[in-house]
Amino acid sequence: MPRALITGITGQDGAYLSQLLLEKGYEVFGLLRRSASAEVMGERLRWLGIQDAVRMIDGDLMDMSSIIRALQQVKPEEVYNLGAQSFVRTSWDQPLLTGHVTAIGAHNVIEAVRLTCPGARFYQASSSEMFGKIQEEMQSETTPFYPRSPYAVAKLYAHWITVNYRESFGMHASSGILFNHESPLRGIEFVTRKVTDGVARIKLGLAKELPMGNLEATRDWGHAKDYVRAMWLMLQQDTPDDYVVATGRTVSVREMCRVAFAAAGLDYRDHVTQDPRFMRPAEVDVLLGDPAKAKAKLGWEPKITLEEMIAEMVEADLARHRARLL
Ligand code: NDP
Ligand code: GDP
Repeated sequence: MPRALITGITGQDGAYLSQLLLEKGYEVFGLLRRSASAEVMGERLRWLGIQDAVRMIDGDLMDMSSIIRALQQVKPEEVYNLGAQSFVRTSWDQPLLTGHVTAIGAHNVIEAVRLTCPGARFYQASSSEMFGKIQEEMQSETTPFYPRSPYAVAKLYAHWITVNYRESFGMHASSGILFNHESPLRGIEFVTRKVTDGVARIKLGLAKELPMGNLEATRDWGHAKDYVRAMWLMLQQDTPDDYVVATGRTVSVREMCRVAFAAAGLDYRDHVTQDPRFMRPAEVDVLLGDPAKAKAKLGWEPKITLEEMIAEMVEADLARHRARLL
């Protein structure tokens, strides 16, 4: 049985990746940071019905000794570093924490792998936010980066340290430059989930309005379930590399709102308001990924469309709120 260690296992991608690896016959271990609210930890794993199938090991990305202990215990063939302070907006309010967790945390993991199990394959969760103020209309692995938030700057450090360890030490270290990906398990603060949750509350009469930030930004949105498959595929290759994972279609926040409200028979123009609280100090206006390399080398293609995903998310949020009303 191959063994995998996942940091960020309690997050959206950690949950879907665990599900995929379990289906493939892996023994799955996750690094779990201590919380006073232990009962809500693992909510996403519970949603997928796999909470008892994965094994948790206490640890924190900012404490390299805990990562070393976890690696010594698990002796994994594959390590997926998905843990991060992952919300762009928060990275202006907690910029140094974002640097510690998202940049140095990733360095801690890859250095711990080098020290304890250098033959293990390593995946780094890089982000399209690194393209920021875009330098090419369609962003690929060769597009120059221009980060626009402390989060993106931290991700860039983690990306380059991954490339550097591959080139310096010959490690099987790959970086997946994933464009935005969503699902019913997406954090509530991210725009798609905020909107599908808002749609559900408005539909059920729990709210009337949905205050939003910049509606003109566009994103290349895919489904997390499709994207974790690309992570796994990267670690199955003979040689490590970097890959853009995207759909090749970009849609505005406004259009995404239209689709989400329409999925519940509503018109977004009757409910969406603009609120400066949700505007950002620096914006990433457009993201559009070119997944040609992932398709050619990994045989990867997204299967779920934006419309299908948003409909699934609206349904899930309606079900969540209905359950709470009972
Ligand atoms: P989430 O925010 O849902 O999950 C983040 C995970 O990191 C959680 O499990 C969280 O644990 C964990 N974490 C945070 N801080 C620490 C810490 N100090 N020590 C250990 N674990 C910690 O993110 P996603 O699942 O959406 O994304 C996975 C990764 O992919 C992230 O690195 C993200 O930045 C990156 N990414 C995501 C994209 C997306 O669109 N989803 C796009 C591109 C990259 P806890 O539950 O305790 O908070
Ligand atoms: P990001 O691409 O990682 O920052 O993912 P988000 O889902 O947080 O944001 C995507 C885009 O939606 C950004 O351009 C935001 O400025 C925009 N946006 C507009 N209104 C909102 C809002 O109310 N919340 C969030 N999170 N984003 C918003």
